[in-house]
Amino acid sequence: MPIPATSAEDWSSATVVPGSGEGTLARIGPVVLLVGSDQPSVVKPYLEHAQIVAANGGQGRQLVRGYALMLSTAVEQSPGFAALAPHTTGLAVFVDGDVTVTINDQTISGADSLAWVERLIPWPVESVTVTLPGAAAPADGSTYRLDGGVIPAGSFTMPSGAGDAMMVVQPVAMTDEPMMAPAEPAVSEEAGHEDHDHGHGHGHPDTPVSDAAAAMVVPVAAPPAPPAPPAPPAPAAPVAPPAGRPLPPVPADEHVNFQSVLISDVDDDMDDFEPLPIVENAAQVMEDSPSEQVRGVYCKNRHFNDPRVLFCAVCGINMVQQTPVLVNGSRPPLGVIVLDDGSVFQLDTPYLLGRDPSGDERIHNGDFRPLPIIDQSNQVSRVHARLEMRGWDVVLIDNNSTNGTFVHVPRTPDWVRMQPGTEQVLVQGTRVRIGHRTLAFNTHAGASH
Ligand SMILES: [Zn+2]
Repeated sequence: MPIPATSAEDWSSATVVPGSGEGTLARIGPVVLLVGSDQPSVVKPYLEHAQIVAANGGQGRQLVRGYALMLSTAVEQSPGFAALAPHTTGLAVFVDGDVTVTINDQTISGADSLAWVERLIPWPVESVTVTLPGAAAPADGSTYRLDGGVIPAGSFTMPSGAGDAMMVVQPVAMTDEPMMAPAEPAVSEEAGHEDHDHGHGHGHPDTPVSDAAAAMVVPVAAPPAPPAPPAPPAPAAPVAPPAGRPLPPVPADEHVNFQSVLISDVDDDMDDFEPLPIVENAAQVMEDSPSEQVRGVYCKNRHFNDPRVLFCAVCGINMVQQTPVLVNGSRPPLGVIVLDDGSVFQLDTPYLLGRDPSGDERIHNGDFRPLPIIDQSNQVSRVHARLEMRGWDVVLIDNNSTNGTFVHVPRTPDWVRMQPGTEQVLVQGTRVRIGHRTLAFNTHAGASH
């Protein structure tokens, strides 16, 4: 039926009209996704996340969080995409790149943003049009429909049935949601500036986050501003749940607010965890399997996670609501280091950082990979520092460098010089300066330290 959609239910039965173009349009349950590519290998990870979200009941919050995590750790630029899924109080919209989304006459484009744009558009949603660059919106009166599946397309519209007065229903979604009082000023004139442009840090000046709801907020990384250049293989994409093993629907999470706040800003909710079994001998675990085996927990979708995180680093599902079982598993990459020239190094292996680390025997042994810091300042030692993975932590160790290794921890005022030879566990968003070069640490995980 035509929209307006005044609830998630309306949304799921709304008419989707595809328009031609060189992209891929998917409608999977309540999730609608338009990707600016027709290459299956490019589209696949975006599609897989949409499938996971749909399998979990199509939660807008999970949709947004998952795509944000994907982008914050991806080594390749996204082809541009827009994804929409309902939330109790409105429609969750995620846009990355040069894709134009028009909802209720409000236009959202990722092209104006350094990172992605996410919005919660309160019900009722009166009309939706999404177009890829160079594609036109579907013609008025088009008889094409997409009720489900994946097709080639360059745009889609969800036409308004304005004029059909019977369709207009008062919004009902707010009834049991007092927590949403400081909600998104989503449809406003300054909305363009109110976007949660992750390139500009965290938090929102007008809506201080002070309650438990804040803890449920997207705990994701701000990605670095410069887009990553073409680089080695992309990190593992979210894995679709095994076929034939239906997932229970996730209870609707009422306390959603699409602000970007690091989870470490708020009180640690880890008290909610059942006590975890103690690793009998942590050193032994590390020795037996020097590089990859760690103790962790699986989310409901079987993604292996740091036991300290509140949300799955891959699919964003809440980890607190399930009983954690600590098991051995292969450690996934713990994030990326992004150099100020945009080059990206995946943290699945230790690195030696410096002017010319490649001559070091630890590189020849295969214990470390080189991360060259090219700088004209003569302030970079041959091997200046190293990065190691310990359990689920990424540790930076100064190598008694002559000119020092400087660290800036988010939400602290100053750069701090590390004591020579000392080490520091990196938290999400930590920046490191060596000579005149800057590196940023981005983790997959919903920061927990
Ligand atoms: Zn997961």
